[in-house]
Amino acid sequence: MGLNPEFREEREWDFEKRRLAPEMEKRLRKALESKKGVFADIVLCPNRSCGTPLKVEILEDVVQVSCSACGFTRLIQGTD
Ligand SMILES: [Zn+2]
Repeated sequence: MGLNPEFREEREWDFEKRRLAPEMEKRLRKALESKKGVFADIVLCPNRSCGTPLKVEILEDVVQVSCSACGFTRLIQGTD
């Protein structure tokens, strides 16, 4: 068997770690547009072994998400 599920999962995990799922980004962009407060429950840390709800902060024109557990952070622009 040439398959190596663990390796594959690690690659996918690595991908997700670098880039939030597009759907998540969409939601966060919407949050930014509506300038509503905190959305701690809509995004979980993309680190699968972590899964902590990310802290979401709406700044001037970006959404900053950060994980207090593993240190993951990402800035999401409101417009492309
Ligand atoms: Zn995390």
